[in-house]
Amino acid sequence: MDAKIRIEELKEILNKASVEYYVNDNPTMEDYEYDRLMAELIELEDKNPELKTNDSPTNRIGGEVLSKFEKVVHPNKMMSLADAFSYDELRDFDKRVKSVAPNATYLCELKIDGLSVSLRYENGVLRIGATRGNGSVGENITHNVKTIKSIPLKLSEPLTLEVRGEIFMPRDSFIKLNLEREENEEELFANCRNAAAGSVRQLDSKVAASRNLDAFLYYNLDQNVKTQEEALTSMKKMGFKVNPLYKHCNTIDDVISYIEEMGEKRPNLPYDIDGIVIKVNEMELHDIIGETVKYPKWAIAYKFPPEEVKTKLTDIVFQVGRTGVITPVAIFKPVFVQGSLISKATLHNEDYIKEKDIHINDTVIIHKAGDVIPEVVKPVIEDRGNDLIEFKMIDKCPCCHEPLVRIEGEADYYCLNEYCEDKIINKIIHFASKPAYNIDSLGDKLSEQLFQAGFITDIASIFRLKNQYESLVVLPGLGEKSINHLLEAIENSKKNNLDLLLFGLGIRHVGAKASKLICKRFKNMDGIINAKLDELTAIPDIGDAIANSLYEYMHNEKSISLINQLKELGLNMEYDAGEIKENYFTNKKCVLTGTLSSMGRSEAKKLIESFGGSLSDSVSKKTDILILGENPGSKYDKAKALGIYIMEEPEFLEKIK
Ligand code: NAD
Repeated sequence: MDAKIRIEELKEILNKASVEYYVNDNPTMEDYEYDRLMAELIELEDKNPELKTNDSPTNRIGGEVLSKFEKVVHPNKMMSLADAFSYDELRDFDKRVKSVAPNATYLCELKIDGLSVSLRYENGVLRIGATRGNGSVGENITHNVKTIKSIPLKLSEPLTLEVRGEIFMPRDSFIKLNLEREENEEELFANCRNAAAGSVRQLDSKVAASRNLDAFLYYNLDQNVKTQEEALTSMKKMGFKVNPLYKHCNTIDDVISYIEEMGEKRPNLPYDIDGIVIKVNEMELHDIIGETVKYPKWAIAYKFPPEEVKTKLTDIVFQVGRTGVITPVAIFKPVFVQGSLISKATLHNEDYIKEKDIHINDTVIIHKAGDVIPEVVKPVIEDRGNDLIEFKMIDKCPCCHEPLVRIEGEADYYCLNEYCEDKIINKIIHFASKPAYNIDSLGDKLSEQLFQAGFITDIASIFRLKNQYESLVVLPGLGEKSINHLLEAIENSKKNNLDLLLFGLGIRHVGAKASKLICKRFKNMDGIINAKLDELTAIPDIGDAIANSLYEYMHNEKSISLINQLKELGLNMEYDAGEIKENYFTNKKCVLTGTLSSMGRSEAKKLIESFGGSLSDSVSKKTDILILGENPGSKYDKAKALGIYIMEEPEFLEKIK
């Protein structure tokens, strides 16, 4: 590919990911993937310096500074660190350092995966706690920093100084927090770093106070400190928490041995680390070695490769999917893999398990495939004991106990019973889910509760719930307010575009992308129902499996009866191809409170919708953004309590362009 095009593409991908990561604390890709793309961009820019522009993420430290916080100008820039992904890159770093400072030695520290903080003390009293922000200007988070018990509010001596370190969330606090959030049907944090950042960048300090955050300090900006090691010991003496696992190394070989040693310790640490920071120990050499606009040349961060972790596979259970497919799932002793706690992973099918020679009670190696989905890599044969249990595929559905069927030429077994409860409930959950029909407030748990209570029996019954208002409001855990909200969301969803409905129906092989392509071609549901098989296969990117499955579905009496019911219930059956322009608001759920000075509510709604976002009336856990107008109402308090991103009008106008 042309370098110019690829550079532009990489810049766009990385800038988008950075906004999600730094501004919204909601990473959309794994760090390793981000680092890989960044390395590609650096290489391309190095080879083509004329294509390097000022807006390149390779020039930028961190993200934007949120307008909801007071800004703090850093007297000394808070820099990032250059990365190394291999020992060869570390040896190159060593050569560069030694070429200007032959006597340099190294101080190696754990690279704590949290967010950096600058703490300024005046006469021994903590005055300012600030995020790194864009390196020059950070956000004032003093109110939250003060809730972190390991950060001293007052030093034993009346010193005026700046120290820096990393705020992080210990792994056990992260597990507890996500369990609570799961119970409250709140969105889970992706990892410890994300949870720490999301807790600290809140206006209400009660949130941070409840989150059990911690901090390790690693920079002391006092000019009189002679070495990095002394910086650490001096801070420890002052009462700061300093990570004890640092090591002074004389050679790069010693550094590499330390990295190996810490790599082994990593899975069992009570906090997340994503690498090792190597700093030239002698402060007087730092100026000689120098810095770039983004990072000091006297330090480097060695990033660990995607983590592979050993654990014991304790059981293999079976799940029934919405299409009836039976999936064996490995259950193992919970382990942390790249920042999140993993206790199960799909094993796909019988052939896969046999091929990998996986047994119950095996010690297995787990990683995240594509850096996201947990996967069992292989069993550790040498760790096998005499308690191995061979895997046996079941022949009856674990839910309805009907015999399973293996379709010729396929690896999967299916439950063909259309009344199988697991199948029905998974169909309903899929239909209401965000990527499908996206019914706000009809989450997995509520779907299941309404199914168990007999209110929802199939997709069409969701749209008849409004006829059972009196019985619904007396259901345990639900009140008038939540039922009204649910029914409103269901009614609103009926206007959804046709591709969401087609995808929501859960037809085998027909995914979100295929649904869009099919709707684009046939324009409405009747067109799709009447489509001939060869017309379907003629659509680019629609293969035989999709076409056959869709054709079969549309020629099944029961499917047609369901579609007819949905038609009668008023669901939109037309496809609106109106090209949606994408921007920051695409797929975001917004709520507006108060009045905007620049436009009315309906204009704001239209604008947001034109970019594929939505504007609803009430704040819920699923709201992404609260747009703050003048004289805001109680929605503001609720959004704050839920930790929802609050956007003031100037930022709204800037981003909606
Ligand atoms: P960095 O994380 O690579 O390194 C710099 C940071 O390391 C410092 O700012 C500091 O906060 C931290 N650190 C931890 N322990 C330290 C120690 N002992 N001494 C010194 N510093 C220490 O760089 P960055 O600029 O903060 O962020 C870039 C990283 O963020 C990338 O590695 C990338 O993986 C991640 N990122 C991910 C996404 C995504 O979408 N997943 C997007 C943007 C950035």
